[in-house]
Amino acid sequence: MNQLPEHPRVLALANQKGGVGKTTTAINLGTALAAIGEEVLIVDLDPQGNASTGLGIDRASRKISTYDLLIGEATLAETIVETVVPRLSVSPSTLDNLGVELEIAREQDRAFRLRNAIADHVSACERDIQGKTAKRFSYVLVDCPPSLNLLTINAMSAAHSILVPLQCEFFALEGLSQLLQTVEQVKRTLNPTLSIHGIVLTMFDARNNLSNQVVADVRTHMGEAVYETIIPRNVRVSEAPSYGKPALLYDLKCTGSQAYLKLASEIIQRERRLKTAA
Ligand code: ADP
Ligand code: MG
Repeated sequence: MNQLPEHPRVLALANQKGGVGKTTTAINLGTALAAIGEEVLIVDLDPQGNASTGLGIDRASRKISTYDLLIGEATLAETIVETVVPRLSVSPSTLDNLGVELEIAREQDRAFRLRNAIADHVSACERDIQGKTAKRFSYVLVDCPPSLNLLTINAMSAAHSILVPLQCEFFALEGLSQLLQTVEQVKRTLNPTLSIHGIVLTMFDARNNLSNQVVADVRTHMGEAVYETIIPRNVRVSEAPSYGKPALLYDLKCTGSQAYLKLASEIIQRERRLKTAA
């Protein structure tokens, strides 16, 4: 197992519930971080490949995917595709990732495939002083599938911290304890320095009393772990992927895009605070 390098910062977007906003947050937070000057890579680990599609990467451009990386047949650099957003790249996923768990189940380093690939990439950047071949990233966002399987475990063992999207709905907190237990287990066994970066409330609807109640409940239970920024439900955000664009390119002024910009600056602030505390 390789040491986790200090940079890039690796954040895994995880929640075993589907449809809570993991992929939407990966795409739009990634775009927002890139817009404020960070060099960002989104690693798509979901076999559905929605982050790749939502960033306009068609199937033909996914010849080398995170599947090839996880089975040990490609380096991180070989998977990387540029997107329409400056400073935002993606390592795309394909349905092949449905089979990856069985394929690598007997390999000793099966939980560390992504971590090792990132560490190797960082070493390649260090050797390549002019930065001609290997791109240096400041943030890597890993979009996880909706389950706590080996793909998600690879993300958690490669990450400095976890970002948890929670949808503002009645059962928002349901399943969170299971997720937090998994994080604790990964900490004990695979990645001792793993932390929770924060919980981001998504699809908030101000007209709905339930949304307000959920925000209050989640803040009571999870305290400071919850980001101040709340992502509103916004039709522009849900339309953007069908144009192969992040919401920030599709409609920068919409409330969803503005919220993701705010979240990006909040995340950078939290990172700074962590650094001064260390
Ligand atoms: P996950 O990756 O957790 O499965 P997604 O990001 O794919 O969740 O979101 C699930 C659905 O909700 C998608 O159709 C997406 O377009 C929609 N969605 C996500 N966030 C928002 C939002 N802020 N406003 C409106 N629709 C949203
Ligand atoms: Mg998703």
